[in-house]
Amino acid sequence: MDLSENLEPDQTPGLVCAHHHLYSALARGMPAPPRTPAGFLEILELVWWRLDRALDADTIEWSAKLGALEALERGCTAIIDHHESPNFIDGSLSIIAAACAEVGVRVRTAYGVTDRHGPDGAAAGLAENDRFLREGGEGMVGLHAAFTCSDDTIAAAAELARTHRVGVHVHVAEGDADTWDRLRGHTADDWLLIHGVHLPDEHGLTGTLIHNPRSNMNNAVGYAAPTRFANPVGLGTDGIGADMLDEFRVAYVKAREADVTATPELPWSWLSTGWDLFPEARRDRVTWNYAPMDPWRLAYTTGVSPTRVEIDGEVVYADGAATRVDGAEIRAKAAEAATRLFTRLENL
Ligand SMILES: [Zn+2]
Repeated sequence: MDLSENLEPDQTPGLVCAHHHLYSALARGMPAPPRTPAGFLEILELVWWRLDRALDADTIEWSAKLGALEALERGCTAIIDHHESPNFIDGSLSIIAAACAEVGVRVRTAYGVTDRHGPDGAAAGLAENDRFLREGGEGMVGLHAAFTCSDDTIAAAAELARTHRVGVHVHVAEGDADTWDRLRGHTADDWLLIHGVHLPDEHGLTGTLIHNPRSNMNNAVGYAAPTRFANPVGLGTDGIGADMLDEFRVAYVKAREADVTATPELPWSWLSTGWDLFPEARRDRVTWNYAPMDPWRLAYTTGVSPTRVEIDGEVVYADGAATRVDGAEIRAKAAEAATRLFTRLENL
């Protein structure tokens, strides 16, 4: 899109986080895992698959509110969320949608269906996606990843997505143990393929590939090198906040490390794909404390912050604070919820 359209030099449309896990907002400060994870699978088993089992309605709500607030404070007005809470599935997506609506941030969420908790768990996940979408929720159908799903579950998720005319939001080849090839024949243009680190250049999957450079480095899974794919490429955080200018800078320096001829236009094009995925965010307006909002300058300018955020015509952030909610109260309540979550984690 032409960014200059109706925009002042210190403005952008609302930024889009094309892959987030709002449920991870309370994870910071969590008790250390029983032992230090030695690789990506152990990071899942010892950290994230323990945290998600400890989530309940209350912690899902405060986690989403905190995540939405932190997104707003960084000029991110639209979040594409991927959720899992195996001990509180039914109704979880509505809690996330309501929490984001209260803050005023757009969200499209999905329940990450998996067979990790047996066929009943997979059925409950599918049912939650179906319920939320049938009730008019802004969502997709979520799949955790092929390697934790049976062929039947993958087929059922693809079918449910077609029924609701939405895409599937799925982790793909994040680690080298994923059996991503089992998604072949199911994918469509409206699918979101998250990570793709270990995909070959020619993989036969359709959909938008979402690059999460900071998360990939954090998990030491390798570099996705997204320019090698024919798929459109978008940018996400994989749950590490929703500061998309920051993620853009990380994406740039990572691309540059691999190829010194890479320019800031490349990660800016990935950031801009967010507006194809979440077109409503184009209408949002973020005014920044810096001008011009040009990729070449932003690639090397740290600390650029919003001064005003307008979502759907309403000012939801001004003078350093959210206007619809009390940010300090959300932080305090989220900290209390985190303490309860950590206690549940230790008792798992
Ligand atoms: Zn993820």
